[in-house]
Amino acid sequence: MKLYSRLFSSITSHNPHAYLLIVLFGGLFLYSCSTTEPFSGYSYDPPDVTDTQDKEILYQNKRVIGFGEPRIWISNEFSGARVSDAWLASGLVQDTVVIRIKPENAPINNSPWYAFQIWSDQAHEVFIRLSYEGARHRYIPKIASITEPTNWNHLQDSTSYSADGSVHFNLQIGTDKQLIAAHPIHPNNIEALEEYPESHGFASKIVVDTVGYSHNNRAILQWQSQDHAEIEKEGLLLLFSRQHPPEVSGYRSFLYFFNRLMGTDELAQAFRSKFHIIAYPMMNPDGVEQGHWRHNSKGIDLNRDWEFFRQPETRSVRDALSPLAYGRYNVVYGIDFHSTNENVFYPINEEVITGIDNFTQRWFPYVAEANPELNFRSEEFEPNSPIAKNWVYKTFGTDALTFEVEDELSEEAIQSLGHSAAESLMKLLLEELLAAEQ
Ligand SMILES: [Zn+2]
Repeated sequence: MKLYSRLFSSITSHNPHAYLLIVLFGGLFLYSCSTTEPFSGYSYDPPDVTDTQDKEILYQNKRVIGFGEPRIWISNEFSGARVSDAWLASGLVQDTVVIRIKPENAPINNSPWYAFQIWSDQAHEVFIRLSYEGARHRYIPKIASITEPTNWNHLQDSTSYSADGSVHFNLQIGTDKQLIAAHPIHPNNIEALEEYPESHGFASKIVVDTVGYSHNNRAILQWQSQDHAEIEKEGLLLLFSRQHPPEVSGYRSFLYFFNRLMGTDELAQAFRSKFHIIAYPMMNPDGVEQGHWRHNSKGIDLNRDWEFFRQPETRSVRDALSPLAYGRYNVVYGIDFHSTNENVFYPINEEVITGIDNFTQRWFPYVAEANPELNFRSEEFEPNSPIAKNWVYKTFGTDALTFEVEDELSEEAIQSLGHSAAESLMKLLLEELLAAEQ
């Protein structure tokens, strides 16, 4: 299998037609079960998820809502906010501050994002209910003061859940504004991303480009490493992140991963001398800014649009990558970072022949062993759905991965995961190159 993959990459780098022959040849001998049913959605997807033609979305009424005595104030007038309505419901025992949260459009996956500011004219305790339209509570509420927007704490201990999918908790409020959100806002918004390369010391190592614009005219950013390659045909690693706005743990794993690739140590320098890196850190800036549950500004799940490319976000990335990859680069691997309720790799089926064959299957044990407390598992899929991973495989013939990180993983665990995964990936890809050269 390994010899086969080396043969594959050396032949295909010289003759593009050989690629087709090898795929057909490989298909006959090694992938006999080729009856692939048309993809219509994963088990957790709503109906018609692959119909990626524009849909109407619901924009929030941006405002400050006030009610009760002493006055309670709720605001969604900030980046990443999501509140559809808020009111005070009188009860026999106590009144309840109801925060109503609706998705951008429906049907939609169960990832109800919320974010709001709350304060009062006078210090007192309130009972808050987060009530979702067509969804069940998913993300543990986090809290920060707006005077310290990078210091967030969990509200976990005081929250309780209702059978209707809502959640409620007590909160001490006062004249100082507090932020409550599904995940920390500031370190994960567009503004923080724009500052990230500079604040993390790798701005001089990358070129930042805008490859296109979202429906609402926000930049689709590209980070490209700019170290000089020593070899003629440079290997290219592709990274994608934040197609789904609430998936912050996957996004932060990507940031730590990228950071580690930009390291000043011997391993990272050796890696960058042999491999080029292109990353799309925030594929869905409208969704992040507008506090969406999953979709872009035309109500589409971007990670179901990698076949027909009807949306500007996916189209910009396709158009930026296609010419690059057929030039001096040789795409070696692609990773698309996401979040779900567990730590899991979704590789391409082992039986499918890819450029560096079964790279994910060989890399997985290193990631799992370096992070034993995360209980990583791996579940293979046929490359038949219109998602980023499968586009990488279909376009460049290389292996690719959907890298899923548990929703509520701690910052320390995310950092350790991102760094260790980058280290083992760099070592493995360098070994692969060495083996191919011998
Ligand atoms: Zn996702």
